[in-house]
Amino acid sequence: MEFELWYLVAVPLLFAAGWYLRGYDAKQRRKETENLPDNYFRGLSLLLSNEPDKAIDAFIEVVKIDPETIELHHALGNLFCKRGEFDRAIRIHTHLINRADLPDEDRLRALSELANDYLKAGIYDKAIECFERLSKNGAYRLDALRSLLRIRCTEHDWNGAIEVARRLEKEAAEDHGTDISHFHCELAAAAARAKNAAEAEREVNLALLEQPNSPRALMLAGDFALAAGDARRAVESWEALRKHSPDHFPLVVRRLVKGYEALGDEEGAERTIREAMAECPTSEVVEEAMKRAFRKGGEKEAGAIVGQAMKSHPTLGNLSVAMELRQLVAPDDPQLQGIAGMLKKESDRQGRYQCRKCGFLSHSYLWQCPGCGGWDTYPTLRVQDMSVRKKG
Ligand SMILES: [Zn+2]
Repeated sequence: MEFELWYLVAVPLLFAAGWYLRGYDAKQRRKETENLPDNYFRGLSLLLSNEPDKAIDAFIEVVKIDPETIELHHALGNLFCKRGEFDRAIRIHTHLINRADLPDEDRLRALSELANDYLKAGIYDKAIECFERLSKNGAYRLDALRSLLRIRCTEHDWNGAIEVARRLEKEAAEDHGTDISHFHCELAAAAARAKNAAEAEREVNLALLEQPNSPRALMLAGDFALAAGDARRAVESWEALRKHSPDHFPLVVRRLVKGYEALGDEEGAERTIREAMAECPTSEVVEEAMKRAFRKGGEKEAGAIVGQAMKSHPTLGNLSVAMELRQLVAPDDPQLQGIAGMLKKESDRQGRYQCRKCGFLSHSYLWQCPGCGGWDTYPTLRVQDMSVRKKG
């Protein structure tokens, strides 16, 4: 092996360079560490010692000296928010918004996070204030409007919801026609509960103007017309609903029968029941059909209807209708009365509508799900009646 003389020079030189660079690196790290304010370490130490409020004070001092540490504040704010410590998250985000020396982008981000802190804490008036500010301009504009719409709905502020939905239609080119129609229906129903018939009528007309074939608006229009003594207009509304949305027929069968009876149109009532028995024989429809048949043809005719229903759909609801018929035949039998009462109660308890989206169960038909907040998410048949609809 040949030994070259220049090795004697190169090896010590490389060693010296390595030594120098090691020292430089350590010096650089020392310098960087010195640049981190003491408050940063104090904040960390306080956070680890489970003293978050004092830690927040320390971190606020850090951002005053070094705005570059802003990410730390966002992370900390989100951490407190996720842990449900909203007052702490609010404090951090409020501080960031008030820092005039921070870039607008950072302050807007803090405002968006503050709005969500208030929303999660259930402080809606403050959340609305923040989202309103965000909705004026900037990258958070459309998300802020969508959040505002959710809050207005949660608070049942339907006029406010209409205004926000209109802004979303204009600014985000989104279609909120169905929502707006529902909001007018909510206002109409509220007016009807307050016995303000004129206002209820006005709102339902606005709902129909927004969505001329809205099943809910047509159903309400019929209800209001019948309450005002105009059975013809009521029947027209419900027939229009049935025509435009056959799925909603089970919800208006009883209304239509009542409307035709009010008009003295026995054939109309009879036809409605006959068609409902063919299209959607729910236990409510079977009950209506059984009662009519009993009035007209007695036990035999009513028994045939119930027997057929029990055969094709042996549900608890239809069993309850069968017991109801027994009760009509023998009204003085106390034992029968007890059993029929119990069955009816149990059938009503079990007969529930279920949201398609989140599975939330409800005894009555709902246009908006209390579980997920979705509109029109309930099928128009109760769970136990789902099998009655003939597949098209
Ligand atoms: Zn739901």
